[in-house]
Amino acid sequence: MELIIEGLNKTYGNGVKALDNVGLHIPTGMFGLLGPNGAGKSTLMRILATLQEADAGTVRLGDIDVLKEKDAVRRVLGYLPQEFGVYPKVNAYGMLDHIALLKGVIHKGERKELVEALLQRVNLWEHRKRRLSGFSGGMKQRFGIAQCLIGEPKLIIVDEPTAGLDPGERNRFYNLLTEIGENVVVILSTHIVQDVQELCSNMAIIHKGRVLYAGPPQESLRAIQGKVWRKRIAKEELEGFVRSGKLISNRLSAGQPVIHLLSDERPGEGFEAVQPSLEDVFFGAINRGNAEPVRA
Ligand code: ADP
Repeated sequence: MELIIEGLNKTYGNGVKALDNVGLHIPTGMFGLLGPNGAGKSTLMRILATLQEADAGTVRLGDIDVLKEKDAVRRVLGYLPQEFGVYPKVNAYGMLDHIALLKGVIHKGERKELVEALLQRVNLWEHRKRRLSGFSGGMKQRFGIAQCLIGEPKLIIVDEPTAGLDPGERNRFYNLLTEIGENVVVILSTHIVQDVQELCSNMAIIHKGRVLYAGPPQESLRAIQGKVWRKRIAKEELEGFVRSGKLISNRLSAGQPVIHLLSDERPGEGFEAVQPSLEDVFFGAINRGNAEPVRA
């Protein structure tokens, strides 16, 4: 099963072009959709999840025409939105049971078995009787995964799942996502480079509605091998490097900018070559040529 997106466009009523001719081939396994805030990730996720209409383009998931056969998509879709709304007074068990019923698991015994298995799987069994309003961010996200696994989905979409999680919670969430079958298309939308680094065998970088890179993270690193340079500079020098069009990122270290440049050759005095990271790939893709670079 593969998700094939071609020529996808979406312009909002206010004139913002959120998706600009997006084309992606997404195989089974974990796929990272990486982009800064406002890149168009949620718009793409909502269109794939049949919650929003595209202006033009086609999307196919195996035999399903995603933009037209919405019911068919919903039968095979697991979706964890950015803001996962729950009834705060209901406990975890009750809510999962309710969602399973809504998703068509009508038989009581079957539902009990399913809900119990899911609570165990996402490590919330001991908290099953707690109200969801008392859950931490990480617990809510794990609950979100449990609900999205009901119905054995073929396409799982998780939108910015680790934003706001502390490192321990993020790790638990990574482990859980890793366990989700290899036979499922999992799209993870995120602005956090580490998410993609830890989890994804394939990725796309999206910025201002456009796909800037698509492929395995390892390949993107190879493409800039030997071309990333670092230097600690004076604040006044920054402007010149921004104008050079070579600036990847600019990070303050003890109050002084440390910049990364992308250049085939050593860009000047005092630059040292560094091993490229996925952050270099990401910020390189979105910053080069930008007048106002996004800070790493
Ligand atoms: P991301 O998820 O990557 O942060 P979004 O898909 O939410 O990006 O937004 C992409 C662009 O579309 C942004 O410029 C955003 O302001 C704009 N946008 C998103 N939703 C709407 C909407 N309902 N109406 C108008 N503009 C929107």
